[in-house]
Amino acid sequence: MGDQWIFLNDDFVKKEDAKISVYDHGFLYGDGVFEGIRVYSGNIFRMKEHMDRLYQSAKSIMLTIPYTQEELTELVVETVSKNGLSDAYIRLVVSRGTGDLGLDPYNCKRANTVIIVEPLSIFPKHLYETGIDIVTVATRRNRPDVLSPKVKSLNYLNNVLVKIEAHLANVSEALMLNDQGYVAEGSADNVFILKNGKLLTPPGYIGALEGITRNAIIDIANELGYEVREEPFTRHDVYTADEVFLTGTAAEVIAVVKVDGRTIGEGVPGEETKKLLKAFRKKVVEEGVKVENIPQGLHVS
Ligand code: PMP
Repeated sequence: MGDQWIFLNDDFVKKEDAKISVYDHGFLYGDGVFEGIRVYSGNIFRMKEHMDRLYQSAKSIMLTIPYTQEELTELVVETVSKNGLSDAYIRLVVSRGTGDLGLDPYNCKRANTVIIVEPLSIFPKHLYETGIDIVTVATRRNRPDVLSPKVKSLNYLNNVLVKIEAHLANVSEALMLNDQGYVAEGSADNVFILKNGKLLTPPGYIGALEGITRNAIIDIANELGYEVREEPFTRHDVYTADEVFLTGTAAEVIAVVKVDGRTIGEGVPGEETKKLLKAFRKKVVEEGVKVENIPQGLHVS
């Protein structure tokens, strides 16, 4: 790989030169929004959905993104193209901008915009074959009426605390419950269970990010004729499910084979999970916004 180019406020700069002020309110207060997007075989998957979510998150926290959605979409495509990667992860961050030490966002004159494109795999490849063990943690999901989990903000402490608990339990991911004890989501992924032939995932009001991979899996499952329901469920339902899996842009679709010491199904990735993963991998290379000037069709998984 040659130089890695990062888009930073109207310019492309080399990775080592991509620096912003310590007075940036994203750094000082977690004040900002972000997206994680993937390029598969030179196609940016569900680009519009990601950009819509970014702009909606920004609207919700009254952050003005200094580009129109069309302009920023074009800049994302350009950053991918400039880095020449046909399979990569895109991190798009818009912070409130550089202000002073005070909390007041009105002292930040212009948002800082960063686009990073690089290869990413959050779980080692073999875990997609074996499935993962997870636990449920004591950290509860933010209440939607306090800080809505639908806003993909830079305030990820809730999720970071989940990751710490996962580490302490020696597992790679964990489930959060909402304040009422219903299963909400993982630290950076949505959860599905398959029970008695029905595919269930928590509805938005439970308090979870409305995952774009989650929505893609719902589409795929509908296309394949599964009965899919957005319905609240508890840990008991997870323990007694036939199959469990997590979805996310970084995680993709990964089977869960043990939860809090309870083996799920036969303790190996379930047949339906494998079927959905296969269909997902097909969809991601077929769909999406094509990026010119990068090799197409190289995706192997
Ligand atoms: N929940 C949280 C808290 C996340 O950070 C993510 C990753 N963006 C997800 C779910 C999965 O969402 P998506 O499929 O859009 O990546």
